[in-house]
Amino acid sequence: MKNKAPIIEIKNLYYRYANEDVLKNINLTIHKGEFLAILGPNGSGKSTLIKLMLKLLKKQKGEILLYGTPIEKYQAWEKIGFVPQKANAFNSGFPATVYEVVRSGLTKKTGMFRFFPKDVKQRVQEVLQAVDMEDLIHRNIGELSGGQQQRVFIARALIGEPDIIILDEPTVGIDRKRVDTFVHLLERLSKEKNITLVMVTHDLGTILDKASHIAWLNRTLHFHGPVQDFQNLDQTTIKSFYQTEFETLGEQMEEKY
Ligand code: ADP
Repeated sequence: MKNKAPIIEIKNLYYRYANEDVLKNINLTIHKGEFLAILGPNGSGKSTLIKLMLKLLKKQKGEILLYGTPIEKYQAWEKIGFVPQKANAFNSGFPATVYEVVRSGLTKKTGMFRFFPKDVKQRVQEVLQAVDMEDLIHRNIGELSGGQQQRVFIARALIGEPDIIILDEPTVGIDRKRVDTFVHLLERLSKEKNITLVMVTHDLGTILDKASHIAWLNRTLHFHGPVQDFQNLDQTTIKSFYQTEFETLGEQMEEKY
């Protein structure tokens, strides 16, 4: 992993809302091909961190480099796909088909002009195939289950042919039994298409044997490294990451092993 190109470099990053410090001195480098899970308790700054990476928030102090370019000057947003939190929140009456939702991923930013109009349909079919959803292309998005809607949003991110996909809590709202299949799909995309994945999640149990790296955030970065190193941490160290989350974390680890 060491000799692979860094895609996202975060250096001495701080962020503050009104009068609340949310991120303190974050240093984090993400390399090509990694599947990074960002874990941490509620309110620990995970969403804030990914919003900063996507320039949805303006950084206040520190540096963010995307493909070696300072984020302020970065242009090639088509390389970076985003699946937002609650992407799966459409009700059954929402007037858009799966096809339309996926096609809407081709914005000016994500390379709309790279395809001839006649090729767009084929492209939509291809990305739906990649997430095993091609049969539902003409269905209304609101008729699908939470897990199916999330797959459609992955396809929507894929249509811009991104190098990296950033996902904010994608397993929320997905049936427990289907979470494993969903994360497995992400792992497959990461391996087959060499897409770098950054995923915010609470779901430690599901992610541990799929992610390649873990970042444990609680306003500061308590741990960042390969998943094997995380698994070798002792309970006292993990406990020190965040006392009140420990019971849940302990339970999830027990479930897994
Ligand atoms: P996480 O994703 O880990 O749950 P967030 O990044 O969403 O954490 O939030 C971190 C902290 O910042 C929380 O205490 C939250 O209340 C606060 N926060 C988030 N967004 C805003 C905002 N727009 N304005 C003020 N405070 C915010």
